[in-house]
Amino acid sequence: MSAPVLGIDLGTRNALSAVAQAGKGVVLIPSRWGGFRTPSVSAWTSGGWLAGEDAARSEIKNPSTTWWDIKRKLGTTWRGRCGRGHCTPEDVLAPLMILLREDAEACLGEFVSSCVLTVPASFSFTERAAAGRVARSAGFSAVRVINEPTAAALAFGASGKFLVLDYGAGTVDVSVVESEGEVWQVLESTGIPASGGRDFDVALARRLSSRMGATDLDENSPLFRTLLAEAEELKIMLSSCTACEWTPPAGVCSAPIRVARPELEELIRPSIEKVNTAVLRLWRKHRPDRLLLVGGGSRIPLLRQMLEERVARPDHLNLCPDETVVTGAALYGAMPDKGRLLLDVLSQDLGILAADGTPAPLLERGAYLPARAERRFLSVGDGPFTITVFQGSGSRRRVIASLKVQEARKDEEIALSFTVDSDGLLKIDIIRSDGRITSIEPLELGEEPRSASSEIPAEIRDLERRFALMSVSLSPAQQERGAAVLRMARTLGTGEYYQAGIEALERMLSEMERVVG
Ligand code: ADP
Ligand code: MG
Repeated sequence: MSAPVLGIDLGTRNALSAVAQAGKGVVLIPSRWGGFRTPSVSAWTSGGWLAGEDAARSEIKNPSTTWWDIKRKLGTTWRGRCGRGHCTPEDVLAPLMILLREDAEACLGEFVSSCVLTVPASFSFTERAAAGRVARSAGFSAVRVINEPTAAALAFGASGKFLVLDYGAGTVDVSVVESEGEVWQVLESTGIPASGGRDFDVALARRLSSRMGATDLDENSPLFRTLLAEAEELKIMLSSCTACEWTPPAGVCSAPIRVARPELEELIRPSIEKVNTAVLRLWRKHRPDRLLLVGGGSRIPLLRQMLEERVARPDHLNLCPDETVVTGAALYGAMPDKGRLLLDVLSQDLGILAADGTPAPLLERGAYLPARAERRFLSVGDGPFTITVFQGSGSRRRVIASLKVQEARKDEEIALSFTVDSDGLLKIDIIRSDGRITSIEPLELGEEPRSASSEIPAEIRDLERRFALMSVSLSPAQQERGAAVLRMARTLGTGEYYQAGIEALERMLSEMERVVG
């Protein structure tokens, strides 16, 4: 039986994972706390990193070091404060991914070292590479990346042109995806700010507090946070019933308060109108065959009613809307690897900026993946110079890499080669006239340069050598997992857990050597 490939959907509110199993179809992985949804949150505490439900519960105690929805900060310069140091978005996301992998291993009873990670269609190469790196540092040695709307359309299981509205807690994305056989193209994708399910919870919590007579409630106060959780419950209930009685927290106000659906609808109508307008614009522009509504917020009756009246009748999904993206990811993971599966096309132009700042696209939007392009040019002077790589066009053009070419000679011919693999990851090679090649591997794009102090310590090198010697006796999955554990040990750096970590690894290896003989 082939090794499982874990499909992962890291949403703004919930993280889900699933695998496709022969004869069973897609199986969702339960979390260690029960249920299939793990809160998409990590927290730094005095005892180290927490993730999922544990992190969500500790939020009251550690509000400033608890981070939700960190995926959208990947590839940016965002830094969080943890302890005496700073952490990157990759550091914050890793504990959550480790938790998802561990839960999958506990559920399936075997090592899981491959995953398919879903990302917003608007993610640049830098953001995709950062997402892939987090998965690798969380112990996945084979990582594929797929666009969220593509995954949703894949789960639907038909070809054609789809408009996918993904109504999440923090983000609402509208995308048009087209499929033809095995080629999938995101024709356009747009995010609608401040309209997610969470914004509705905040609006309703404010309304509840004023109806309780508690105006001017600080939004960071424990009472407001309690109201927020109650508001979400109420909002969800009001999707299936037209009114409910709400009992305010004890000690604040004793009389039950009746909340009816029209009251909620009055609060959320402006946002739903905005979403509706965005959907209508893309619907008219691309004339898709189907309208797919995914994400938990897509259950809101007002949204469905408005779309049906003004755009089209949504297609019946046959799937839980908040499980659609992860289902597509799991299905993609189980697709037979035909060497190169053409799954997506380049969604944004890719090129370099000339010395005067003029963009020169090397690969144009719409190119099929895998794609390759090469550009040769002559160095204008002696000494080092920088090549600026960009992605996107017009006002959405972003610089994704600045490559330093050392010791160039005047008139030296230098070749620059871009390769985008079928997972939408970019590799860049700079080929010099004397044959020297400098490469930026797909998962290295945008990575912070490592400092000299992160040289691999001798103890870890020794452990790696011992592990390599016995690895012939291990299965490929065991080899991958062992290698991943040792890779992670490198990140212990000079931290306080270094000595304890090395000693634990040393004991583990001695025991393995004894068993393997
Ligand atoms: P994300 O992908 O951003 O994590 P999900 O797709 O998991 O989000 O959806 C979570 C959001 O959907 C939350 O804001 C939740 O309150 C909302 N939601 C879930 N079920 C319902 C419902 N029946 N009616 C309205 N909103 C809902
Ligand atoms: Mg989502």
